[in-house]
Amino acid sequence: MPITGLPNPHLHRLCRKCRRWHESDEGSLCAPTIAGPLSFLRNLRATAMDDETVQHFVCFACQKPKGMSPLLKIMLAVAVAGLVAGLASWFHLIDYILPP
Ligand SMILES: [Zn+2]
Repeated sequence: MPITGLPNPHLHRLCRKCRRWHESDEGSLCAPTIAGPLSFLRNLRATAMDDETVQHFVCFACQKPKGMSPLLKIMLAVAVAGLVAGLASWFHLIDYILPP
């Protein structure tokens, strides 16, 4: 649960994603995401040198994976419907469903 009053930087940690202050036990240190060759090299150097200063605090609420977006759900439903129609056509089931 985010801190509502003034945070104490010695006790609380700032979440990198939601930008709210949390207790230290409400999250963990995570390596930054790799977005390109520079961040890949920075993470590789930090891993090789056991450098924890590169890691960021992220609360447990922000670490949960997000759900599927509505557009992706629609695209998946259209793909499944196309696959079913293609298989029905392939096995000539359309003739039984819609007689000529
Ligand atoms: Zn957060």
